[in-house]
Amino acid sequence: MFKIEVRNKFKDNDSLKRPDWNLHFLAMTCVISNRSFDTSTKCGCIATRDNLILSSGFNGPPAGSLDIKIPIDTRPDKYWYMEHSERNCIYNACKSGINLNRCVFYVSGVPCIDCMRGMLCMNPKEIVYLDGGDTQMNHYKKDVTNNGDTIEDYLCRVAPNTNVIEYKGEAIKQVIDYIYSIYSSVELRLGGENNG
Ligand SMILES: [Zn+2]
Repeated sequence: MFKIEVRNKFKDNDSLKRPDWNLHFLAMTCVISNRSFDTSTKCGCIATRDNLILSSGFNGPPAGSLDIKIPIDTRPDKYWYMEHSERNCIYNACKSGINLNRCVFYVSGVPCIDCMRGMLCMNPKEIVYLDGGDTQMNHYKKDVTNNGDTIEDYLCRVAPNTNVIEYKGEAIKQVIDYIYSIYSSVELRLGGENNG
């Protein structure tokens, strides 16, 4: 039986005070999400292999769009224009001829069912995401369970070779704390009086 692995905490820093890779890359998806010009939902995704970044993406219209002309504040109109971060991550890899087979996907929120299926088409080793409790971001779970299936029923059929790992609860706070710690560290190095 398929089980989504739910984790509430990242591993402690290693002996060199480095963060867990999952914490590191999930925090990075949050940074990447900030490039989205969607005013209400910002999502980021990274694909890695052997802890090296292969591709990234955030939600937005197709590359080359006239961004200023996109009806970003109008639902459902904007849905016709915006592509999700996970699929943009895949398309960005395609554009550069990067193979995502057996990669690890990191996502800043709960993937929708279309993106989940899209990522699974890459036969990923793992899909790792943050669940901050936003109900809007939990479509993937709702969509699947609407017809009586559980998420595990669905994943059992389509993702037998993929580990699906969900971080929530205390782990969300750890991501925020980690991003704050990066801010402090960067400010110390780059924001000093000598750099004004
Ligand atoms: Zn999606």
